Amino acid sequence: MSVSYWNDQSKGQNLNVDIAIIGGGISGLSCAYWLQKEDPSLRIAIIEKYEIGAGASGRNAGFVTCGSVEHFNRLVGKHGPEEALEIWRFSEKNLELLQQEIIQGDADDYLFEQRGSFSLASTETEFNELKESTKLMSAMKINVEELGQKDIETRLGAAKFVGGIKYCDDASVHPMLLLRGMKKKLGKNVFVLEQHEVHSIQTKAENKLVLTNKTNIEASMVVYATNGYSPLLHDYFSTKVFPTRAQIMVTEPVPRFMEGPCYANFVLDYFRQLPTGEMIIGGFRQLQKDVEKGYSDETSDVIQKALEHFLLEHIPAIRNAKVTHRWSGIMGFSVDGQPLVGSLPEDPQLLFACGYTGHGLGLAFHSAKVLTDCIFGRNIPKFISAKRFT
Ligand SMILES: Cc1cc2nc3c(=O)[nH]c(=O)nc-3n(C[C@H](O)[C@H](O)[C@H](O)COP(=O)(O)OP(=O)(O)OC[C@H]3O[C@@H](n4cnc5c(N)ncnc54)[C@H](O)[C@@H]3O)c2cc1C
Repeated sequence: MSVSYWNDQSKGQNLNVDIAIIGGGISGLSCAYWLQKEDPSLRIAIIEKYEIGAGASGRNAGFVTCGSVEHFNRLVGKHGPEEALEIWRFSEKNLELLQQEIIQGDADDYLFEQRGSFSLASTETEFNELKESTKLMSAMKINVEELGQKDIETRLGAAKFVGGIKYCDDASVHPMLLLRGMKKKLGKNVFVLEQHEVHSIQTKAENKLVLTNKTNIEASMVVYATNGYSPLLHDYFSTKVFPTRAQIMVTEPVPRFMEGPCYANFVLDYFRQLPTGEMIIGGFRQLQKDVEKGYSDETSDVIQKALEHFLLEHIPAIRNAKVTHRWSGIMGFSVDGQPLVGSLPEDPQLLFACGYTGHGLGLAFHSAKVLTDCIFGRNIPKFISAKRFT
């Protein structure tokens, strides 16, 4: 986006930092967290167009799940068993790092729970894939459990599913509490600039000059932590990260009855009961694939009705609960479903961590650590490196 002379409020004000991070979501905060941990003397700016959590990071369902962009049998089919396991372990590590570094002993402050997550099949075809996945994962010593129809009814209160899988170590969190907790852990050398929209990046001698509607930020490196919005900032992303809308709704609370959060229909639809009793349900973008592309964060009647219908059909205990909130957000889907970490081929001072394909809570904290490795010249895993596209 460009800014007119009339709207430019920067008035020549400059802030000098070592690293400027664009985007105040989980990616941007995580990048700042790992960079300051690596070197507390680094001056870092987080530049956010609205406020922290304005993007998908403050609009998601709060599942902190491992490697579940698709069923594990498919991951093995695409990547082979070794890399599939590496991808899984990467997201397991993401959760471990979040617990060690951010949540620590304060799970209740984040409404963080580690009760496992479930993937449920409503057809025999999908259940067969889940059974195959359970076998493959058990052989690799991943902590999973197969569920039958009765287990699903009694443990999850969910009807009309033929079977499923439990990923025993997965977790869930209140996403905004997580972001606020992360922000609190940033040191005095990290400057959080909200209501600052980046409109262009120029080269100034050895440095980059990030132009915003307010302050201009001079830095030796710039990180795009803008996930689905990245193609709006640089053309490089237009063939690699696709803005994809996700819609969601929440009901009023009812007494707790579910063992843990659930995915259904090949990880496309999802629901979970919050620790406070509300039911959150999202998905169904497959009903309006074309409409769900792009940057509008409205909701649509077609998808919101489908979410309501899903509740009525599958979750009897919530049938009479009123819907209190409906919203949507923009995710960044990558070409191959894996995150992208690296620098622009023609400019090593412009770096990025994005493309979480609807699973940023399960991937972004560790991906940001990998970005720090990249900045400090250490090797990074091939499956996440943007070099796989060159
Ligand atoms: C409805 C929904 C449900 C989801 N559920 C889950 C879930 O349960 N579990 C899970 O793991 N993931 C889930 N996701 C995906 C997850 O939220 C994202 O993968 C993750 O939040 C991406 O984080 P991010 O920081 O990279 O991007 P974002 O949170 O989108 O942050 C990017 C930021 O960049 C800012 N920005 C953009 N352009 C500019 C500019 N020009 N100048 C300055 N700032 C700019 C935006 O305002 C935004 O705040 C869900 C997403 C949605 C929308």
